[in-house]
Amino acid sequence: MLETPVEELIRGRRPLDPADLETIEESLLAADMGVPAVERAMAVLRAHGPQIVGPGPAAMRSILQEEIRKALSVSALPPAEFSSRPWVVLVVGVNGVGKTTTIGKLASSWASQGRSTLLCAADTFRAAAAEQLEIWAERVGGDFLRGAEGADPSAVLTDALRAAAARGRDAVLVDTAGRLHTRGNLMAELSKMARVAGREVDGAPHETLLVLDATTGSNALAQAREFARAVNVTGLVLTKLDGTAKGGMAVAVVQELGVPIRYVGVGEALDDLLPFHPDQFAAGLLGEA
Ligand code: GDP
Repeated sequence: MLETPVEELIRGRRPLDPADLETIEESLLAADMGVPAVERAMAVLRAHGPQIVGPGPAAMRSILQEEIRKALSVSALPPAEFSSRPWVVLVVGVNGVGKTTTIGKLASSWASQGRSTLLCAADTFRAAAAEQLEIWAERVGGDFLRGAEGADPSAVLTDALRAAAARGRDAVLVDTAGRLHTRGNLMAELSKMARVAGREVDGAPHETLLVLDATTGSNALAQAREFARAVNVTGLVLTKLDGTAKGGMAVAVVQELGVPIRYVGVGEALDDLLPFHPDQFAAGLLGEA
């Protein structure tokens, strides 16, 4: 979020002057929106600068909000969920961003729509991660499958996809490893999992969600680039938006990867996963009106 709500960056009803524009630009950059999106928004604001005098700062907010909304709109359509059975969703991201929690929340929302799920713990190095996922599976009444410690994640995934197919489950949500210290191996492992999924189920993974923590800042862009090299990321999940962080860096990631934000995480409870609304997000980013 901007340190100061956008209206307060300028005072009085007068045309925006170069110093105002510079202050606004610096605030947007400090919110980690990324240079391309900020430059575009500023170009539009500059063009409208003289008009800001009339309707005042509210006009500036609506111009910026519209530009942020546009920067977050990508042409890629979201996939038609459950158009294949089982519907396979690979969830990737570094440790601690909220992958396991997001899977639990998604499974819960699908369960409430009458969809059956199988939750697959494919991080075979972190026993705690698998245990967390199992707890979520119990809470939402989903199936759960994990591998032996140190097992090949692709083998665990294969077992999970076969089990889900045999039991006629609607969806498989796959929790993957996110350790950063063996980055090369991790990325090779994720690529292999995506290939293996495609061999087991036509078109799988049908969605690959990259989970980003809104409190991360510009480092999220580096994470996104790295994961996008290994797997075909189709959407983003932005977690921890319930705190003070407003996730400006997600604008930069959407611009870079060209994929939409699909969901936002706003807490640790089952129903704290919401569909993404670009307008609301842009308003939040610009600070309280
Ligand atoms: P993983 O390592 O990526 O699987 O991350 P986890 O799902 O284990 O989440 C790491 C921590 O972040 C846990 O304490 C979660 O409860 C917390 N968490 C996840 N999503 C959110 C969210 O949207 N808001 C808040 N406040 N905490 C979250």
